[in-house]
Amino acid sequence: MRQTAQAHDLQFELYLSETAIQVRVSDLGKALQQRYAQQHPIFLGILNGAFMFTADLVRAFGEECEVAFIKVASYEGTQSTGEIKTLIGLTNDLQNRHVIVVEDIVDTGNTMARLMPELQAQQPASIALATFLLKPDALLHPYLPLDYVGFEIPNKFVIGYGLDYNGSGRQLAAIYQLIGH
Ligand code: 5GP
Repeated sequence: MRQTAQAHDLQFELYLSETAIQVRVSDLGKALQQRYAQQHPIFLGILNGAFMFTADLVRAFGEECEVAFIKVASYEGTQSTGEIKTLIGLTNDLQNRHVIVVEDIVDTGNTMARLMPELQAQQPASIALATFLLKPDALLHPYLPLDYVGFEIPNKFVIGYGLDYNGSGRQLAAIYQLIGH
């Protein structure tokens, strides 16, 4: 596995290996299976970053479910701008359904803090959040339902496993952390 990665002008170093990721995602899938088997939940993947995590998580879950993708956040460069576009692409009826929101990373939590009430308004039977990564030191909304977290990581910019830096790096099977800065 490559130890470093480059995206545009920035250098990154390996932080979470592909194997570590697969083991953890498999565990999360099993935990979800315990909770949601027979309940036909809806996995709502947040585009673009969560496409890879959603695919692996749903496979690890392995039970009957629905999968949909929505788009919410605008994020430029390596700093969260806090600017959020409105929710695009939700066509499923969530009323009385068990919803699992699948996110790539919760940083400040602003995106999820904004999204959750919009989803709650549709009166789902339950709503949980599965995030692949969490930066606890950056979190501004500790009340978020962070039931399923892949890895807690330091407050440093990362790419790979679906996460990008200005459009680059999503294809990497591992997570790479920005060197320096
Ligand atoms: P929040 O609203 O929680 O501050 O930020 C959530 C969004 O910011 C994520 O969905 C992701 O798009 C972006 N983000 C936050 N931290 C990182 C990071 O370290 N790397 C990348 N690639 N995106 C990040």
